Amino acid sequence: MDQTKILLSEQELPTHWYNIVADLPFPPPPVLHPLTKKPVGPEDLAPIFPMALIQQEVSTERYIEIPDEVRDVYKLWRPTPLIRARRLEKALDTPAHIYYKHEGVSPPGSHKPNTAVAQAYYNKVEGTKRITTETGAGQWGSALSMACQFFDIECKVYMVKVSYEQKPYRRVLMETWGATVIPSPSTETEAGRRILEQDPDSPGSLGIAISEAVEDAISRDDTKYSLGSVLNHVLMHQTIIGQETLKQMEIAGEYPDVVIGCVGGGSNFSGFAFPFVRDKLVNGKQTRIIAVEPTACPSLTRGLYAYDYGDTARMTPIVKMHTLGHDFVPAGIHAGGLRYHGMAPLVSLLYQNNLIEARAYRQLTCFDAAVQFARAEGIVPAPETAHAVRAAIDEALAAKEEGEPRVIIFNFSGHGHFDLSAYEAYLNGKLVDYEYPVEKIRKAQAHLPEVAIE
Ligand SMILES: *Cc1c(COP(=O)(O)O)cnc(C)c1O
Repeated sequence: MDQTKILLSEQELPTHWYNIVADLPFPPPPVLHPLTKKPVGPEDLAPIFPMALIQQEVSTERYIEIPDEVRDVYKLWRPTPLIRARRLEKALDTPAHIYYKHEGVSPPGSHKPNTAVAQAYYNKVEGTKRITTETGAGQWGSALSMACQFFDIECKVYMVKVSYEQKPYRRVLMETWGATVIPSPSTETEAGRRILEQDPDSPGSLGIAISEAVEDAISRDDTKYSLGSVLNHVLMHQTIIGQETLKQMEIAGEYPDVVIGCVGGGSNFSGFAFPFVRDKLVNGKQTRIIAVEPTACPSLTRGLYAYDYGDTARMTPIVKMHTLGHDFVPAGIHAGGLRYHGMAPLVSLLYQNNLIEARAYRQLTCFDAAVQFARAEGIVPAPETAHAVRAAIDEALAAKEEGEPRVIIFNFSGHGHFDLSAYEAYLNGKLVDYEYPVEKIRKAQAHLPEVAIE
């Protein structure tokens, strides 16, 4: 086959999301209440999430049907293309075949609307009038802003301050879709005020912004909270990506040796990779599946596999995951979407059981790869996506070294059109690397909650 762009028709859009829990040989550890430290029940989560999403969160059904209203919105940009990176292969002079799944074609420019649209829909059905959320780089905030606009729901976004300052156009995009955006930590919540008292210049973090958004949602009856990553139901909504990719690889007549995705909270990686993990679990495939993270926030490669809070102010449930500690504040790298202290419990569980691999890269080497990719393929990757590009290029170079063919696929989680100030810094030699923050992580990890369950 010598196709470059592998497309599916609208009729081939998957009808169901895939729930990997149904195929796991080991059960996920229970989620604990932040105060009682006992396993949480649906009623504990009801003040923050609609019941349909809570049910999906604990579901053990293998496939969950995608509502028609959600599929109709997906059709605005899905199915997304799978592209053979022939020009990159040539530039690298590698025998490897490289494919990328282009999630950057969605209106907000990333994979995030795959779950934003589903979450807004279920909230609408259950009568939610207003949704709060946090955003790092602004990708999640913009996806949710658009989704809330489509379903006529008010949207309030707490945006991590360092990104708010680095990416003003993301804010404008969210406001264009009708949302209200404020920098976090803010003075509007107890959680925000507490952080500002200790550190008026705090760059903010996802953990802090989550605390603010949750506090806001709990304090009002008409408001629910929405999270763009980490949770089981979010990862499940993203599996539309990997299911499409499976069909597209079949059309290409190849099966991947290596599957790569970048990880912040773990949602795009999971959505892309879980259908391939299923092939390992159920069909005995030997695929290598690699999660890529920044050295400045290395939750999988350097985190502890332990129970920890999802947010800084300890308002969210306690989950078992790879964590750097809930009060760890990572350096202000440009890949804002990868600055989360923990990792999705399902990704952590797979990593712990050796079903997936992980590696960490520094910022500069990721931008080297991103620029090389842009010059070969034309498309400019988001700084988060650049981590996956780096790993894909390294795998292709390893294939060249070993003189063997290798089929490499990676998820192109989003484009970098709103990250050009980071590219400007890179091109002017002003982008810096951050050392692995040993001492900061050690300190933060000393604050993990004590729980009775192991
Ligand atoms: C948010 C984001 C990420 C990281 O989030 P995950 O939940 O780990 O996918 C990666 N890439 C892009 C483009 C993003 O917007």
